[in-house]
Amino acid sequence: MAQGRITDASIAAVREGAKIDRVVADYVTLKKAGVGSLKGLCPFHDEKGPSFNVSPDRNTFHCFGCGEGGDVISFLMKIENLDFIDTIERLADRFAIPLQREEYTPRPGSSADTGPVVDRATRARLIEANTAAAQFYVEQLFSPEAEQARRFLSERGFNRDDVAPYLVGYAPNGWDVLIKHLTALGFTRDELLTAGLTSDPKESGRHIDRFRGRLMFPIRDQSGTVIGFGARKLLSDEQDKGPKYLNTPETPLYKKSRVLYGLDMARKPIATTRRVIVVEGYTDVIACHLSGEPTAVATCGTAFGEDHVRIVRRLLGDDGNGGEVIYTFDGDSAGQKAAIKAFSLDSHFQTRTLVAVEPSGMDPCEVRLHRGAEGINALLADRIPLFEFAIKTELSQFDLASVEGRGNSLSAIAPILASIRQSEVRDQYVLRVARWIGADPENVRRAAAMASPSSAPQSMAPRAPEANTSDVPPEDDAPTESFERPDATQFRNAAAALKVVLHGRRFMQLAAAELTATDFLHPTYRAVWQALLDATADETTANVDAAGWVAAVMDRAAKTSPTVRSVVTELSATPAHLRTTLTNENALKTALMLVLESSGARMDHIMRAISNPNLSPEEMDRAQAAWDKAHQRHTAAQDRLNEIDGSHF
Ligand SMILES: [Zn+2]
Repeated sequence: MAQGRITDASIAAVREGAKIDRVVADYVTLKKAGVGSLKGLCPFHDEKGPSFNVSPDRNTFHCFGCGEGGDVISFLMKIENLDFIDTIERLADRFAIPLQREEYTPRPGSSADTGPVVDRATRARLIEANTAAAQFYVEQLFSPEAEQARRFLSERGFNRDDVAPYLVGYAPNGWDVLIKHLTALGFTRDELLTAGLTSDPKESGRHIDRFRGRLMFPIRDQSGTVIGFGARKLLSDEQDKGPKYLNTPETPLYKKSRVLYGLDMARKPIATTRRVIVVEGYTDVIACHLSGEPTAVATCGTAFGEDHVRIVRRLLGDDGNGGEVIYTFDGDSAGQKAAIKAFSLDSHFQTRTLVAVEPSGMDPCEVRLHRGAEGINALLADRIPLFEFAIKTELSQFDLASVEGRGNSLSAIAPILASIRQSEVRDQYVLRVARWIGADPENVRRAAAMASPSSAPQSMAPRAPEANTSDVPPEDDAPTESFERPDATQFRNAAAALKVVLHGRRFMQLAAAELTATDFLHPTYRAVWQALLDATADETTANVDAAGWVAAVMDRAAKTSPTVRSVVTELSATPAHLRTTLTNENALKTALMLVLESSGARMDHIMRAISNPNLSPEEMDRAQAAWDKAHQRHTAAQDRLNEIDGSHF
């Protein structure tokens, strides 16, 4: 590792020589915007129209939406969460700028020198370890032991050349095959553990390879760096008790909510075609790419979520003028769940969202196997709007022959109709739904209007104007309380956790064992949580039904503030779909996701505090202890999520 302080002249050379438009283009699709200026969607805040400007001449950027701005160094630091030196080194590498260093003389007792240096070195080592592991697994794919892995691939229609660009490999079935290989290369056991390549010795008693006897799919970030792995089980359930797909746990490099498999290859095609295909499996990504659909990506061990939406929108240049997001889902119930989840994200896209479902239930990998590239092209050509799919999926759960079934189906569909943004499109669907369920279009329209998020809390408020079914949101009641309405997209995990526990007291009891008030960063959500705790503490709520439970919580919330109460009604009104599928496991998962987020935020916060050079040694110790505590909680939540999540990917 290079030693010594980088000279000011070298830093200046990087600031001028690293081209900002090329660096930004890794994250944001930029378009020409007048002389000497480019623009795109800001990666630092959510926006509909592009207000993020890049000036290649000045080598600077500025966002007119959120005010973020700076030079190429501050851009990369902020977007990758890197420290200054790491950023300089990365840019210097990429643009082949030589770095000059001064003699390095550590100042004893100066904490400013230790913190970031450790971080930078660790990160580089973790990348090296992952890269070396990927290389090792690729070599192993051609060993005699990997026969089953090769058969798995060929049975799915992939030959050696097909999978080579994806670095598909094989993890030998031994306890420490990778450990031996990588320690011989100079990596420490701690590094392998931090990289997620080995399992926690606290569980297994010693360091062992995390991936054993599995087909390995390296997961790369947008720039093509290997940051983790997805591993497909090959052995029988007796030989391998793990889940079908096992992924790298959260590490300093790998955050599953922010990675998309195949994105390093799909990035440019997505930007040029303004289309992205979201598939469910790693082999589906490869199958699509090989069939002339280079924009396919897949999530890794988690559902397509709002962080993924943000990444994709930036690449699409999602500004409301064209562009398509196409989801492919299995026809089975897991696929339907995924569709409904995608549906809940739809309002974040300006672009059209569509669904391509194979009627026979085949996934894209199977389609390619049986029908070749034409099959994949045909599957995507038959895409239908997500609304249509969501409505029909919902309808299929009701007996439309009975009056009761038709009535219930209307209340289930109303929130979907209400969420359609464009009023012309919504009107079309109102007419179609009326036809499908045999109802008066006026009734359907009224149901949709009542289910709209803006009217739901109002219609239950005592002072709501009567029969307000117009699209114009009613004027705000003059807010006298200090509680503000949280932005549900910004606090999505908190909102999700609250939505779940509003489904019933037993879910609340489950979540209360995991969560504390401090997990809710927004004061209004914290107040909702308190209302839920109060309602739980009251024995009279022990046997109430779903509606009674929400009413009990609303009662308590109203005592705090009308806004808190209104947020309760809003949270309980939106995810009507979940009600049919909510299990204890899902509820627990939602709570753990919030723990993961809040403990992660806490770790980040402490990390920033630690980098303050003026901290006293005692303050430093305290910060370190607090970080350890948050880290422990974070890891424990992640492990349990992995356990729950393991069965699908
Ligand atoms: Zn911005």
